[in-house]
Amino acid sequence: MRIYLDHNATTPLHDEVVETMLRVLHDDYGNPSSVHAEGARARELVERAREQVASLLRAAPEEVVFTASATEANNTRLRALRPGQHVVTTEIEHPSVEAPLSGLESLGVDVTRVQADSEGCVAAAAVADACRADTALIAVIWANNETGVIQPVEAIAGEAAARGIPLHVDATQAVGKIPVDLSRVPASSLSLSAHKFGGPKGSGCLFMRDSAGIDALVSGGPQEAGRRGGTENVAGIAGLGVACELAERELPRRMAGYGKLRDALWEGIRGSIPNVRSNGPQDRRLPNTLHVEFRQTAGEVLVQVLDLEGISVSAGAACSSGSIEPSRVLVAMGRSPEEARGCLRFSVGHGVSAGQIEEVVAQLPDLVARVRAAEGA
Ligand code: PMP
Repeated sequence: MRIYLDHNATTPLHDEVVETMLRVLHDDYGNPSSVHAEGARARELVERAREQVASLLRAAPEEVVFTASATEANNTRLRALRPGQHVVTTEIEHPSVEAPLSGLESLGVDVTRVQADSEGCVAAAAVADACRADTALIAVIWANNETGVIQPVEAIAGEAAARGIPLHVDATQAVGKIPVDLSRVPASSLSLSAHKFGGPKGSGCLFMRDSAGIDALVSGGPQEAGRRGGTENVAGIAGLGVACELAERELPRRMAGYGKLRDALWEGIRGSIPNVRSNGPQDRRLPNTLHVEFRQTAGEVLVQVLDLEGISVSAGAACSSGSIEPSRVLVAMGRSPEEARGCLRFSVGHGVSAGQIEEVVAQLPDLVARVRAAEGA
């Protein structure tokens, strides 16, 4: 059986999610906009899911807008920025925030990117210092997808509120892994994606406390109170709802369980492989994420070697147009291309067992040694 340690890329669906989705796909085919019984049933499912999402986030149901992804949710919020406006963001955002912002920058939006430190943390004070009288938005990632480092969103929300600046948080990697409580972190908008925590792909949402001035990215239908046109993906939305309900119920158990697996993996690696370091502060990382630099190693080769052994992880550098591009996030943390190249991300989740971690710990030393030998290390 394969060992899947790439839960930050995507997760297997929870059984309850699959069961609900199959039932909806099979039986509840109505269009939520129709007035007849089939439509009313589909509407009921969508509204039930809205309540489940809102309950997890401690938000109000009418503040939840269903989208096809977190990418769409981020784009919807960011594209409300207008030329001449100023936005404060960070150097360690996901491409679904960085790419729309650089596009907007070329159209005249003024973008300030706050630096991360060598541990991958952004300081709330640095975000505050970057704010100006004309700042229209602060956009910050809650937990980084590569390193798992949790940003000080509560303090940033305080700085934003003190200045009356709306705060958008990309919580895609945080939801289902740590508490994401909007009563504690009063962001004005937030994005999430079902497939990162046991739900289906193609289903996410944008929480918006106030949608005034934020145009629908997809227009042409009255759905989602005009905030996102297009007939709803009822099964995907229902799946997201169930994933949220499970996350709310299981969060403390998940955090403890994932943390144990992550720590066992690191202890095993540290104890058996020389020249390794774990990135990110010990006390401010997602419980499921371990980011390790194996010095003098080609991470992309190690990913392939592990894959051949039935183990799935991801690398800190990606091959683009034939050359190895170090991750933007690791470069922002001051890593050299060589250091970034040796990084692997292990991310655990639902279905990963202690036995599987032992298996990985048993196999890794030899595989790393082989890759290092091939590199001439
Ligand atoms: N933000 C973060 C932090 C992510 O990790 C991801 C997914 N890799 C996204 C946004 C985009 O999510 P989706 O796959 O739903 O577009």
